[in-house]
Amino acid sequence: MTHTCPRCNRPGIGALAKRWSSRAAPAECTVCGGLSHVLASTDSGIWAAGVVILLVSLIGALGLHSALFFASGLVLAVALNIWAWRRAKMYPISAEAASLAGKVHWTLAGIYAFLALFQ
Ligand SMILES: [Zn+2]
Repeated sequence: MTHTCPRCNRPGIGALAKRWSSRAAPAECTVCGGLSHVLASTDSGIWAAGVVILLVSLIGALGLHSALFFASGLVLAVALNIWAWRRAKMYPISAEAASLAGKVHWTLAGIYAFLALFQ
C-alpha cells in the first residue's frame, strides 16, 4: 500500500511512512526523494474521531450490556481510521523547513521537560 507523492505524483510513499509523518519528521518519497507530511490537524483529527467513536460505543455497550455493540464500534473506529488515512492529503515540505521544525519540536520538548522538574 503506497501513497501518491505530492511532488512527483507517483506512488512513492509507504502507508506507515505517511501515517507517522509530521513537519518535524516528514516521509521521504522512494521515487524522487522529496519530503512531504500530513498536517498535524489531520493527524489529531483522525485520532480524536476514533477516540470519540470508541467512547460512545463503550458507553452504549455498558448501558445495553452488549459486548457486540462495543465490538461494532471498534470495527467502525478502525475502518474510519484506515479510510481517513487513505484520504489524508500530504503536503510537500523542504528539508530545511523539516529540520527547523524538528529543532523547534525538540527545543519545546526540552523546555517542557525542564519545567516539569520544578512542578
Ligand atoms: Zn516523489
